[in-house]
Amino acid sequence: MANVTLDRLSKTYANGYVAVRELNLEVSDGEFLILVGPSGCGKTTALRMVAGLETITSGELRVGGKRVNETSPKERNIAMVFQNYALYPHMTVAENIGFALKLQKLSKDQIEAKVKEAAAKLSLTEYLDRKPAQLSGGQRQRVAMGRALVRDPAVFLMDEPLSNLDAKLRVQMRAEVSRIQRALGTATIYVTHDQVEAMTMGDRVAVMNGGILQQIDTPSALYNSPKNLFVAAFIGSPSMNLYHATIAGDLTNLTIGSQKLALSPGLLKKHSTLTEYRDRKVIVGIRPEDLALNSSSQEATNRLRVKVDISEVLGSEILAHFQIEATSVKVEGETPEEDKLDEIQLDNPGNKYARGVARLSPDLDVTAGSYIDLTVNIEKLHFFDPDSGDAI
Ligand code: ATP
Repeated sequence: MANVTLDRLSKTYANGYVAVRELNLEVSDGEFLILVGPSGCGKTTALRMVAGLETITSGELRVGGKRVNETSPKERNIAMVFQNYALYPHMTVAENIGFALKLQKLSKDQIEAKVKEAAAKLSLTEYLDRKPAQLSGGQRQRVAMGRALVRDPAVFLMDEPLSNLDAKLRVQMRAEVSRIQRALGTATIYVTHDQVEAMTMGDRVAVMNGGILQQIDTPSALYNSPKNLFVAAFIGSPSMNLYHATIAGDLTNLTIGSQKLALSPGLLKKHSTLTEYRDRKVIVGIRPEDLALNSSSQEATNRLRVKVDISEVLGSEILAHFQIEATSVKVEGETPEEDKLDEIQLDNPGNKYARGVARLSPDLDVTAGSYIDLTVNIEKLHFFDPDSGDAI
């Protein structure tokens, strides 16, 4: 059964701004659901509606099958872990963790037992007598989780809980928060703007933009089958390369600038509605790892000729930032004055070069300024409708 259900939940602020529009989400028992999207997409507003810190304009919120729209935050059986931890500086770790239980008027012995149990789960036993100022960022984060978990809530809500930590600790804490969540088995909604965090931590990831849910799926489904251009560009680092392209009338190839890539029968089967795009423009997406260096001199139908701009050597791989040659994207007019350079880059309109990134093997010698041929893994191409942005 779904533990938390957001049923067409909307939020319109007093100034008329719609921050969340008809959001549908279901979080099952024990599930770790991540809400991700760029700044201002409405994810915090959504979380605050679930917590009861923001009123719900329309729709229904259910916890354990019961409507809780009008229920006070305290009575929702939900615990929230904030970005800034919200610890009391004058209290010890034990007092911070036990504070909510004291308010619930539990006996001293009961509080002590619950605090000890939570501290053990979070590896905080040896720090119980310290004050927050005497702890590291990661330890403070665990105390904040301890405060939430002693209440034994039906749902955990976490709002960017790792964003105050330095990069290395953040990576460690990602794994730790996932481990704790799995050990507790408590349904969790976790908000972040960091797509890497979303992809590495969640059972499922809900991607939001402009107050609207774009796609909810497992991390691998989001990565391999993004439903629209927004998700395609947002998930993955470096991002998917996206170009305007034209599908040939006989469906044998597609043209990016003036370079042709062959379309395989397998690909046409996978994207069956591509047949509706004969002689029409589409947007084609190529993940950086679906490009490889081609050193063969033979004529090939799955190659792009590019000029390397910068080559980032990262040890385990090389990120080759490239431009598709200007001449190759030139559109011939009837007179030289009418020649123009086709706009093939989505996020760089008017630019005569189309940029891109290829993730290449680290032992290759790819020097800036050189021209290389990249083999495209045709089977892995993504296609989008240029008007709607929806996947084809
Ligand atoms: P961030 O990652 O920056 O925290 P977010 O996705 O969590 O962003 P929200 O905080 O939910 O975004 O805000 C969503 C939108 O609603 C933003 O455009 C914000 O400016 C707007 N907003 C938030 N609070 C109010 C308010 N009280 N009145 C009017 N608009 C608001």
